[in-house]
Amino acid sequence: MQFIDLKAQYRALKAEIDANIQAVLDSSVYIGGPYVKELEQKLAAFVGRKHCITCANGTDALQIAYMVAGVGAGDAVFCPDMTFISSTEPANMFGATSVFCDITPDTYCISPSSLERQIQAVLAEGKLTPKVVVAVDILGNPCDYDAINAICEKYNLLLIEDAAQSFGADYHGKKACAFGKIATTSFFPAKPLGCYGDGGAIFTDDDQMADLIRSICVHGKGPGGKYDNIRVGVNSRLDAIQAAILLPKFHALTEREIDARQTVAKRYNDAFASHFTVPYVAENCVSVWAQYALLAADTAQRDKIVAHLNEKSIPNMIYYPTPQHALPVFREEPRYGETFQHANDYCARTFSLPMHPYMEPQEQEQIIAAVLEAL
Ligand SMILES: *Cc1c(COP(=O)(O)O)cnc(C)c1O
Repeated sequence: MQFIDLKAQYRALKAEIDANIQAVLDSSVYIGGPYVKELEQKLAAFVGRKHCITCANGTDALQIAYMVAGVGAGDAVFCPDMTFISSTEPANMFGATSVFCDITPDTYCISPSSLERQIQAVLAEGKLTPKVVVAVDILGNPCDYDAINAICEKYNLLLIEDAAQSFGADYHGKKACAFGKIATTSFFPAKPLGCYGDGGAIFTDDDQMADLIRSICVHGKGPGGKYDNIRVGVNSRLDAIQAAILLPKFHALTEREIDARQTVAKRYNDAFASHFTVPYVAENCVSVWAQYALLAADTAQRDKIVAHLNEKSIPNMIYYPTPQHALPVFREEPRYGETFQHANDYCARTFSLPMHPYMEPQEQEQIIAAVLEAL
């Protein structure tokens, strides 16, 4: 049994993927080229954005977004306490300070009320300049963008959507990657839309920003091309082979896999709702279920279940064991009195079960039985 069965997906898409890889090999266009262009056009159209610029991975996508936002020393970047380090790691590299915000107890995404408290605390202290909010659609579940947009407008902050886990999700009829001035995603193999290596993409509706992003991705190239360098940039591009792999996977995701993920999640929800806190998806939202996370009663119960699953060789993970504010690397970041009550509680109780669109009902019954046995 696999936590995410990428082999089952490959078996289903093998003919198309193999043919596309062979076509790239035959073309000898290995970086950029027609597959990358087609992918960027299709992804932009799907999420309803004017521009999609692919890059080397989801962390680079965020780094480039922070470069476009001009984030640097003395700036505050507001970020949910429960996320992967990539969300603000690149901002810290530029000398900015991560200001963590608590999560909501239901969606586990950034809490709008904690966000506003942290912004006000930074303003009151007067040391840092509030600059960017990064909203993370955690576990594939979209954030409360109506509330977050209102706060960003009120305090004139640039919003970045970190949609690394949520490509294919939906908030009030708009797709993940459609929120914020800039949105980023990741094609790491285990993500809902994954390639066979590293990859990422950046989305925006702003023509000037799109030009700037394309320039930064290729060493700060100017109108004269890559030897006409007009700014300091990076080397961050998607390989043609990865784009050729992503195209059939994108079709499978949008045509079948998003629906299949709902079916798997519903079976889990039905089995577990009376025993655990099951995931909550807000009204008019669709999660893409990057992970299926349950909350046990407490850490002891969680650890007991995990031990039983390990004994039965049922794959499981903890996303995430440690909230950002408690990571050694972020020990010195200011907290402004925030207690991170909900992030602490979530991390202490969470465990994730196998979740992918190729799961057989029989396999899922086995997982459900093992979890319930452990109680
Ligand atoms: C995976 C992930 C990233 C980074 O993506 P990579 O492609 O691995 O660099 C960023 N943010 C979140 C929330 C992620 O889960």
